[in-house]
Amino acid sequence: MVTRSHEVDAHAFNPWLHVASLIEQAGHLLGLDEGMIKRIVTPERILEVAVPVRMDSGEVEMFTGWRIQHDTSRGPGKGGIRFHPSVNVDEIAALSADMSIKCAVVNIPYGGAKGGVAVDPTLLSRGELERLTRRYAFTIAPMIGPDRDIPAPDINTDTQVMSWIMDTVSMLRGHNVTGVVTGKPLSIGGTLGHAGATSVGVTICTAAILQRLERSPEGARVVIQGYGKVGGPLVELLTKRGMKVVGLADVHGAIHVPEGLDPALMAKHYSEAGTIMGYPGADEVPADQIFTIDSDIAIPAALGGFITETVANNLSASVVIEAANGPTTGDGAAVLASRGIPVVPDVLANAGGVVASYFEWAQDLQGYWWEPELFHQRLERTMREAFEQVWARQQELNVPLRETALALGVERIAEATRVRGLFP
Ligand code: GLU
Repeated sequence: MVTRSHEVDAHAFNPWLHVASLIEQAGHLLGLDEGMIKRIVTPERILEVAVPVRMDSGEVEMFTGWRIQHDTSRGPGKGGIRFHPSVNVDEIAALSADMSIKCAVVNIPYGGAKGGVAVDPTLLSRGELERLTRRYAFTIAPMIGPDRDIPAPDINTDTQVMSWIMDTVSMLRGHNVTGVVTGKPLSIGGTLGHAGATSVGVTICTAAILQRLERSPEGARVVIQGYGKVGGPLVELLTKRGMKVVGLADVHGAIHVPEGLDPALMAKHYSEAGTIMGYPGADEVPADQIFTIDSDIAIPAALGGFITETVANNLSASVVIEAANGPTTGDGAAVLASRGIPVVPDVLANAGGVVASYFEWAQDLQGYWWEPELFHQRLERTMREAFEQVWARQQELNVPLRETALALGVERIAEATRVRGLFP
């Protein structure tokens, strides 16, 4: 049963309680009153849905899905949809709150939302995946729309899944609704630049913090955990800026390449082997040891909750850039802070994706396509400005970058909530 109190096992890391307490702390730091803090923390709408799917065998299997709108004071809900066996209501609630903060930090006119289905999509045929997606989209359809809540890709969802959602909603409404999802193919209202935009934002934040720390990107050794939608393009983008990717992990394991990876060679190897493992000349490293590899910058770009106290204690790098959502636990963050390791938090570092989504949605609403240069210029400017605002604010607040970004986001949400007042 879905409750707002989120009954939990007191010993397990609970992403929702973690994010809720971070928002509360930010509220206290800003001197907000308790009523305002509670309004901001509490998700506005939680929908749990049953998703029956006819499998290829003819049997019907049941899956559970969610869509949560955390806060819509600054605009329609925005956030991805993930298909993963570990998806649950606490994870989706936490990620929806992260989206509220993220959109506020980069100052785009959205609230936060997130959705997901507890399913292992690697076990589904293409037909099963389509039926699951369409049934889930149909069931959450009353809650989504271009001016209500706009889903996007996240873990294990892509342009094809977005196309099926767009088509399902369009069939229901009786006309094309291109702006109901972002991350679509170009042929149905997607935008040039969306693919890889998260990685572009991560790269901008990496370059920006190195500059602020007065360190050169040239030869800086990077370890990336993840070689998917975000980690994949990062290898090339960071290498182009003079950095060396000396460690990489995917779901099959981790590798160490002290002289730095060749991005093109890795891309070729991956497309043939289906894994990064076996890259010529690489040493294998246990996957949970990835961040012990001798390095300067650590970039988690996979699932949440990986940087625990132990991982943080043994982390070799002196800067962490959170490309994944929620990769660091509360204890992990405390260790990194006590070791003086700056962390560019997820709500800033990986916001390039949602900024690109904003540009796609704006073009859909306008029915007018921007020149690619305009897209890239605006993405660069939005990310750079957000980084500089967080950095400047940190000097005033004197707390780590995560707390600073949270405070900036919460402050913007509080201001929108305050001026709108309380209905009725
Ligand atoms: N899933 C991405 C994120 O976590 C993108 C969300 C969006 O574009 O709406 O930020």
